[in-house]
Amino acid sequence: MCLWYNLGMYRIGLGYDIHTLCVGRDLIIGGVKITHEKGLLGHSDADVLVHAIIDGMLGALCLSDIGTLFPDTDKQYKDAESILLLKRVYEKIQKEGYEIVNIDSNIIAQEPKMMPYIPKMREILSDVLKTSQNQVSIKAKTNEKMDAVGQKLAIEAHAVVLLKRIGG
Ligand code: ZN
Repeated sequence: MCLWYNLGMYRIGLGYDIHTLCVGRDLIIGGVKITHEKGLLGHSDADVLVHAIIDGMLGALCLSDIGTLFPDTDKQYKDAESILLLKRVYEKIQKEGYEIVNIDSNIIAQEPKMMPYIPKMREILSDVLKTSQNQVSIKAKTNEKMDAVGQKLAIEAHAVVLLKRIGG
């Protein structure tokens, strides 16, 4: 367990998430509804990118992970908008005395194409986090048709989050 007084000026966190694609669900990534015949399966809206960012933030301050904070056995998080969970997590981070320096992330999806949606995702995320858009980077890749992601069975996301002590 981390103690606040030895956390230091800068903290970095790494987040990863993956969700299965299935029919009958909306595809929500980075807070944006994406036109696709399948969506991601999950207890919340299954926003894989936002979940990776949340885990990066929590990890940076040793605050456990999204599954511990918002358990999937808890009905109040059923179909929850992940972007609102992100807002709550960032409030917690700020209460701990830290703010975002920058976020870098990858969405890995064989289809659909993420590129057209990335500007809107960056706009939404920087709005929720009250940062400028140049503090939020989102990149997109396919998995070259390999493994579950490449076979269009799932979409995954990775994020690193750098935090700095407020006023530091
Ligand atoms: Zn997730």
